[in-house]
Amino acid sequence: MSTYKVAIVGAGPAGYFAAQALQNLQTDDLQFSIDMIERLPTPWGLVRSGVAPDHPKIKTVSKVFEKVATAGNFRLFGGVELGTDISIEQLKEMYDAVVIATGSALGKKLGIPGEDLPGSLSAAEFVPWYNAHPDFHDIDISLDCDTAVVIGAGNVAMDVARMLTLEPSELDPTDTADHAISAFKKSSIREVIISARRGPEHAAFTSPELRELPKLEHTNVLISQADIAAAIVRAGEEIEKDTKSNLDAMLLISEKEATNHDRTMKFQFLATPVEIKGSGKVEEVVFQKTGSDEKFSIKCGLVITAIGYEAACIAGLPYERGKVLNRDGHVSENLYVVGWAKRGPSGVIGTNKSDASDVIKLLVSSLKPAKNNGDVSDLLADKKFVSQSHWEAINAAEVAAGEPLGKPRKKAVLREELLGLGGL
Ligand SMILES: Cc1cc2nc3c(=O)[nH]c(=O)nc-3n(C[C@H](O)[C@H](O)[C@H](O)COP(=O)(O)OP(=O)(O)OC[C@H]3O[C@@H](n4cnc5c(N)ncnc54)[C@H](O)[C@@H]3O)c2cc1C
Repeated sequence: MSTYKVAIVGAGPAGYFAAQALQNLQTDDLQFSIDMIERLPTPWGLVRSGVAPDHPKIKTVSKVFEKVATAGNFRLFGGVELGTDISIEQLKEMYDAVVIATGSALGKKLGIPGEDLPGSLSAAEFVPWYNAHPDFHDIDISLDCDTAVVIGAGNVAMDVARMLTLEPSELDPTDTADHAISAFKKSSIREVIISARRGPEHAAFTSPELRELPKLEHTNVLISQADIAAAIVRAGEEIEKDTKSNLDAMLLISEKEATNHDRTMKFQFLATPVEIKGSGKVEEVVFQKTGSDEKFSIKCGLVITAIGYEAACIAGLPYERGKVLNRDGHVSENLYVVGWAKRGPSGVIGTNKSDASDVIKLLVSSLKPAKNNGDVSDLLADKKFVSQSHWEAINAAEVAAGEPLGKPRKKAVLREELLGLGGL
């Protein structure tokens, strides 16, 4: 019997699905011992720090992750960062195979003047802020204006716009960070404009998320009927199923009568942002009507861009266009990559499962005789790390703190606070 040691770096969906794929391939003769290394004290990646708090059902996939983690021959090393605490070379030397699953966490930039003004930020900062990511708890978010512009035409833009326009007490029974709930309760923002460069027929929103919008109880959602009618004409007869479903969902929204709710989310199409203006802070966004020279501007105090993500570079890994350079998930020698670090920021949580499974099949077919060169615990000396049992203590404490408040969990934010809950 051979037992191979595999290090998986990154405890998001792709990392857990890679571990699950290894577990599924085990036989009496082939066993894997899995070490999962995660820079944060908490696992689950974007399921904890990305998925919108008002979508709790999606987060139940974490039950699958915990099953993988407790299936045996699995160790968690939370609070350990590849590139800082340990190097890729060390892991490649010690493990039979190394799987990079570090995601894609940096927000893409528009590259227009004024983008760095205070009041202009990326969804890659705003989303982890409201989701209690320890690195983003103290970023400055200006909610003391009446209008915000969200630039982007995907589900992240929609999540951001929804979080800004929900009646904040709707967030009380969610796991939104306490600091964000109190900021939203003080927010003066009453109108959020989601702005897309292209027409509704090209938007990357998905229809289940669009269909949810008319059900919001305290938010007006406005789409111009004329915009959708023109998009239907442009899209023509041979329209793809998903596009049709999206346009149908947008048509339904556009036909809904406006209510007298205090908060409004409004969609704007065919508008290319060309400049963000303001003296010392954001005051307006200048747009050009896509395909024409006509310009117009929207006064606002907050701009959030949600136009995609790219991977942060980790020393020792090759990158190309925001992703780890790979061929079908193989990087070099015994090094592999899965998830958003491999494909870029596309696909839902489930997409990472089939993707990781394919890469793991390739990995297993290329294994050399098992090594005996130690493991990550030999590199950590006195460094505290969050093991699976520490994480289970953190998880239980958060869930218990949430219970009397009617929340699925009350998230701890700061690293020290999280380590304390874990008994470290
Ligand atoms: C805002 C947002 C909302 C989303 N909502 C949904 C949704 O509702 N439904 C859905 O199906 N999908 C949703 N998605 C998509 C889904 O989250 C992704 O498909 C999935 O998380 C990608 O998995 P991953 O493991 O590749 O990356 P991630 O989930 O980002 O996990 C990467 C992990 O690696 C860790 N890491 C990074 N660098 C290092 C390092 N140097 N050393 C150690 N660890 C490191 C990170 O801390 C993180 O835990 C959303 C995405 C975003 C951005």
